Amino acid sequence: MFTRVWQLKITCIKAKAFIYFIAATMIAKSDKEILANSMYEDDPNGNSSPIQQASAVGAVEAAKVSPRWGPQHKGAQELASLYSPGKRAQELICVYTCIALMILNLGLIVKHMHWERISVAFLSALCGIITADFASGLVHWAADTWGSVDLPLIGKNFLRPFREHHLDPTSITRHDFIETNGDNFMVGIPILGYLAHYFYAKSPSEIQQHFGWIAYVFLCSIFVAMTNQIHKWSHTYWGLPRFWSTFELIIEHFTGLKPRDDDMKWAKKLT
Ligand SMILES: [Zn+2]
Ligand SMILES: [Zn+2]
Repeated sequence: MFTRVWQLKITCIKAKAFIYFIAATMIAKSDKEILANSMYEDDPNGNSSPIQQASAVGAVEAAKVSPRWGPQHKGAQELASLYSPGKRAQELICVYTCIALMILNLGLIVKHMHWERISVAFLSALCGIITADFASGLVHWAADTWGSVDLPLIGKNFLRPFREHHLDPTSITRHDFIETNGDNFMVGIPILGYLAHYFYAKSPSEIQQHFGWIAYVFLCSIFVAMTNQIHKWSHTYWGLPRFWSTFELIIEHFTGLKPRDDDMKWAKKLT
């Protein structure tokens, strides 16, 4: 509500400034220039900011080339402002709990690992990663398709990041580890909790028998937890962890293909 009031105030200030501006320069302005310096009626927040580029290309062209998304987008700013201290606390608890469970399960896996089971474990782990990839895509689709930020509890806390991401896709690259991974680490907690319980409830021989299942569940939960970190890396152009840049260099060496080369061609376009 307050944000809306502020947006209206800002719009009013802009409108007044515009009227003064027009009054002061009335004689010198042509119709085209007036149009170029106006805000559109269907764009009360000025997201398409014709003022910035209008002088060069004209208002209609400016509306076409100006981004309607990004950090300056009013909708994205309002969505970002809904990130609350309570939400932050939930993310902190989830990240630390999940990391503790990851370490615990890894320790238990290493303890029960027998070399003759390595091929089963490897294949199961691969299936776990594929399952995590599919499940995260399905959940993302569902969150993009159903509900709204106005829904109680889940709206502001769990759907808001999806809406923000679509309006300001690179905001994810400015989020820290906790904000990026809090929710996915939360999903990992019950799966890793189940796995830790499995180790304590079953006998060593049963654990050996079901080692494939254990490897599957473990890798699936690790990759479910890591999904948004990987998503963040895929939006990051600079300052990636050295592992990825080294990996890219190796692939580039063998294929001759430069990563994101085609993207950069478009990113460099100014008008
Ligand atoms: Zn999406
Ligand atoms: Zn994305």
